[in-house]
Amino acid sequence: MARQAFKYKLYSAERNKRLNRQRVAAGQIWNHCIALHKRYYRRFGQHLSQNRLMARVAYLRNHVRTDWKILGSQAVQDVVQRIERGYKLFFKATRDKSGRKVRPPTFKKVSRYRSFTLKQAGWKLIAPGKVKVGGCVYRFHQSRTVEGKVKTVTIGRDSVGDFWITFSVETGEAAPIKAVTGRTAGFDFGLSMFLTGTDGIEVQMPQPLKTDLKRLKKANRELSRKKRGSKSRKRARLALARLHRRIACCRRDFHHKLARELVQSFDVICIEDLNLAGMKSLWGRKVSDLGFAEFVSILEHHCRKAGSRLVKVNRYFPSSKTCSCCGHIHQELSLRDRTWICSHCGVSHDRDNNAAVNIEREGLRLLAHQAGHRLEEEAA
Ligand SMILES: [Zn+2]
Repeated sequence: MARQAFKYKLYSAERNKRLNRQRVAAGQIWNHCIALHKRYYRRFGQHLSQNRLMARVAYLRNHVRTDWKILGSQAVQDVVQRIERGYKLFFKATRDKSGRKVRPPTFKKVSRYRSFTLKQAGWKLIAPGKVKVGGCVYRFHQSRTVEGKVKTVTIGRDSVGDFWITFSVETGEAAPIKAVTGRTAGFDFGLSMFLTGTDGIEVQMPQPLKTDLKRLKKANRELSRKKRGSKSRKRARLALARLHRRIACCRRDFHHKLARELVQSFDVICIEDLNLAGMKSLWGRKVSDLGFAEFVSILEHHCRKAGSRLVKVNRYFPSSKTCSCCGHIHQELSLRDRTWICSHCGVSHDRDNNAAVNIEREGLRLLAHQAGHRLEEEAA
């Protein structure tokens, strides 16, 4: 089973103020829960259990903070569960998947608190593009229909101030592994070229996205020049938020199109398993702009749907430094060497293309290795 999200923008309307009040209530409940957790720990040296916290918040909501009643009880429960998940992660590991330090959940500015989540109850789809939440009907721009069983509904405000509704659904089993095209390929991500593949595929980032990224720099500068608390600063902040939103949309669109194309052309796609936290610290934030991680997760999704295989090659595999002709490893190559000549066999290489060839070879080797294991298991 896989999760998929369908996200739509709500029409801006007067009644969105009611959604905003629900969002604010969720933020206040969050902060109250954090305070209770901290107090409980100080007094008893123990973690406050989710059930006790839930009971306490329910009591408050019924008798003291009746303004919190605007938020459905499932959404309240979700706030408590979000905090619990945060603590669980904190107890379990010191670092998360991308290598960042895990901190316990903490107080949040209510003005920055983004969303609340409902599960089965408290919402209803009454018509295409119409949803009822907490007794009020909201309309949203529906571009594609929601497919699959809805598990959660999240309503949130973005930094521009618009509300969005996200349906998280469970989709069916992955499509069976196909062998339609009989083609395999390896890909390398890069800074100058977004994607370089074997058989000469080269994919640039679309020009509008590049231009927007330049504008982003400028908008950032504008904002930092404005006086704190001034009206013009508020305007500049909104302009920046709008630009960020457009870039994210544009990039997602580009990623989806590219991923669809790749899964239609290849049965097996080999890529490098990226260590994004490491890349960020190495090259600055431009790498995160390119959104490799986002692309990989989108590619994964399309592979599942189409039945293509995605093979991730270990990030310590020296894909750029190995000569794809003779296998000699050149430790002295730096990031700046775009083309180089192998001192061992004399073949000249384009850095990205050479890496892609190596990634494909290693990926196919891994795949054959896995298949071999499976056969052994079946025989035993
Ligand atoms: Zn060589």
